[in-house]
Amino acid sequence: MGIKYEIPLLKDHHTHTSIYASLSNCIDLSAVRDKKKALSLMKKSTDEITVILGWNSSFFYFEDEELDGLPPVVICNISFHDFMINKPARERLFDSHKDIISHIGDGNWVERNLYAILKFVGNIKPCNDDLVRSFFDEYLLKNGIWYAEDMLLADRKFVNIFQRIGYLDRTRFWADIETFDSLDSEAKKYVHGIKIFIDGAIGAKTAAIKEPFLTGERGILIYSDEKLFDTLTQLSTHNKPIAIHAVGDLATDQIIKILSDIQSSENCIPQIRIEHFQFISKERAETAKSLGIVLSMQPNFNNDSIQYADRLSAKYCKYNNPFRMLIDEVGFVPGEDLIFGSDGMPHGVQCALEQSLFPRFPDQTLTIEEFIAGYCMPDQKNGYIKIEIDEAQKNITTEIVSN
Ligand SMILES: [Zn+2]
Repeated sequence: MGIKYEIPLLKDHHTHTSIYASLSNCIDLSAVRDKKKALSLMKKSTDEITVILGWNSSFFYFEDEELDGLPPVVICNISFHDFMINKPARERLFDSHKDIISHIGDGNWVERNLYAILKFVGNIKPCNDDLVRSFFDEYLLKNGIWYAEDMLLADRKFVNIFQRIGYLDRTRFWADIETFDSLDSEAKKYVHGIKIFIDGAIGAKTAAIKEPFLTGERGILIYSDEKLFDTLTQLSTHNKPIAIHAVGDLATDQIIKILSDIQSSENCIPQIRIEHFQFISKERAETAKSLGIVLSMQPNFNNDSIQYADRLSAKYCKYNNPFRMLIDEVGFVPGEDLIFGSDGMPHGVQCALEQSLFPRFPDQTLTIEEFIAGYCMPDQKNGYIKIEIDEAQKNITTEIVSN
């Protein structure tokens, strides 16, 4: 017998609703550990161009020759920071997307052009009202999520879809500056904030950590200090919150330093959210706290310490997502300046709760109260989640009840 709770549905502060909705009928490899099975799934596709999601390079890599005999495929790494496009797909897409097709194997180029690539991938499968509705009601809700922020608004048509189906209160849009600038003034009102990336991802071995990955690659910092200072100063003129993707400790160090510099130069710092913030020293975290920064983190990424032990050293596995340090020693408060989301890797209450309560390392632990404060809707108006926690067996069962 475990301890029982009823908690509100989740408020996922960081995912990619429009891209995941657009791609919700695609082949998903995230649970496929066997390359042969992955290849045979792809072989069967009859789409003009098949988008494949969830490829996890900790399970296997594909050789070019293995892919070139398949129908046209665009394969997305589970991190959405690494892509493979086979020869038949490259031939079809070359004229319309010369730049992307020519550079898709170049990690540095990919990180610097990530928004353009994600929009390109999202557009292979056009989205519509039904896809968004069923993504929220058939998929997110069944996984315990009521509300999900979209960190990648691809264009105005998604605002129109949410308006038409009446789901604007179930999301909040963030856009990159190029997309934001392209919108008319009416659409701009629907954009909550602007998102930038300053490094890559662990899944693509491009997160800017201070040591090389065990497999030899080095992470990527996208901006020089000067360029980041100028970019943030420029972005703040829009008077919108800014969300900054920073995973590795080189990136978290850089962003905290630059935000301190902006503050001491008496420029006004806009409302800042740092996304992921997985590797951070206590000293930098204290500065982040004093600057009033909100940390938007993913308890499910505790699992990176296990699934990416092939590329992260033991030191970095242990250093990942130090929630206890942030809360107990630095004073971040879940629900106030520490909020939680999934990035869709995976979505839902089950994995998030397992990783929060029973993580690989004690410093990654969240209490159920902290989880509720940082990750749940304020009330149970739209439904709730029945939870039973068996501490001894480290086992959690969840049941979603929607109203
Ligand atoms: Zn994301």
